[in-house]
Amino acid sequence: MDVWKQILRRLEAQVSRENYSNWLEPIRLSHVDDQHALHLLVPNASAQQWLESEYQETILDAARSLSLTFESVVFTLNGTAAPFEMNRSAATARQTSFDFRAAASCFHPRYTFDTFVVGSCNEFASAAAHAVAHNPGRAYNPLYLYGGVGMGKTHLMQGIGQELQKNFPHLRVIYITSEQFMNEMINSLRYNRMSSFHERFRSADALLVDDIQMISSKERTQEEFFHTFNSLHHMEKQIVLSSDRTPRQIPGVVDRLRSRFSWGLLADIQPPDLETKMAILDRKAEESSVNLPDKVRSYVAMQMRSNIRELEGALIRLTAISSLTGADISLSMAKQALGSIISVSECKATIDSIQGIVSQEFGLQPGKLQERTNVKAISFPRQIAMYLCKELTGASLPEIGRAFNGKHHTTVLHSVAKVERLRQRDPNLNKLIHKLTDRFN
Ligand code: ADP
Ligand code: MG
Repeated sequence: MDVWKQILRRLEAQVSRENYSNWLEPIRLSHVDDQHALHLLVPNASAQQWLESEYQETILDAARSLSLTFESVVFTLNGTAAPFEMNRSAATARQTSFDFRAAASCFHPRYTFDTFVVGSCNEFASAAAHAVAHNPGRAYNPLYLYGGVGMGKTHLMQGIGQELQKNFPHLRVIYITSEQFMNEMINSLRYNRMSSFHERFRSADALLVDDIQMISSKERTQEEFFHTFNSLHHMEKQIVLSSDRTPRQIPGVVDRLRSRFSWGLLADIQPPDLETKMAILDRKAEESSVNLPDKVRSYVAMQMRSNIRELEGALIRLTAISSLTGADISLSMAKQALGSIISVSECKATIDSIQGIVSQEFGLQPGKLQERTNVKAISFPRQIAMYLCKELTGASLPEIGRAFNGKHHTTVLHSVAKVERLRQRDPNLNKLIHKLTDRFN
């Protein structure tokens, strides 16, 4: 979307419908000049006069609210002096480069370090992000963040960008998704502007590329990104990448690029545990001044899966219902309002259901976990199942032992402690346990 369209959206909310369609809607963007003047094209002389006298400040204000600072607005008649059509490629060229500069300051205002809740699931990634934001190009280069959908990668990455701008205002920080990178490249190829494309990206002090997995199988994009990467890395400029999986798991990436992704630090964001989910709900409720009773908070955190975006969605839904009906948020309201979302994932954690789900996960026939054998292929899943029974059901150790073909309660205790210990050390096991736990959420 061009800058003017963004500003228009703001204006639409501020002026009357009539004034908007009479005066503002017909305006087109011409370009932005070196003096930071916004040049707009207007359809006739009376509109030009009226806009000059009445709307300059309103437009500048609307731009400011989007963190776009212009010195002035210049209204030119569309179709005079510099015909728009003839000048289009020049205008597009200027506008693209401008958009690009603006993009740097167009971070989502809410995606900062301050609003990012840190828990054991994202502690490591968050620490790495802070290190990079305070010591760009030096700490870890590149920093590669990975994790599932809705886990906070974009949030953390934009947090790095905004913190960098705050700490080092002179740095040129670029945030872009790999798809936008590709689109910019295609446009530059089409309009013969590859040299300015190179110049733009290679003159960045920090380049943050979100969802890098999207360049999978895009050869030309990979080629361009490879050179951009080399050039920036060589100059010790910070690179941050995010992806929904590890470099090794992205298909269709050339080896030389894949290996570069792992040159610095790989940091994963795991699904949030119950405590983190509750802390996030608290924070979001506070941010939007919503009163979320403790009971509702635990209910939502326990029932929702681990996707934080969905967690936010649940809160938004409750807030909306509460404001529409004028009733406070309550447990019964939450149960009713979220029932349809939750019922899909609802499955009660019982010793039986845990045994079933663990067997399924490890491809074991029902009943295998209860067999008296110490073959690792069975004893390991059994230990995990015991651990989950202890964590997720109210069953006592002897009860759990009985359900596993009369195992002694000390054996159960030993298994639980072992899985707990391994889980601290082995991120894959930790992830597996989260995944299994989620089946019961
Ligand atoms: P991803 O890019 O991993 O798919 P996002 O960064 O878009 O996820 O996060 C999804 C939503 O969840 C965003 O609104 C974000 O603000 C929120 N969110 C994710 N992680 C956290 C966190 N740790 N603290 C606060 N909000 C979070
Ligand atoms: Mg994202």
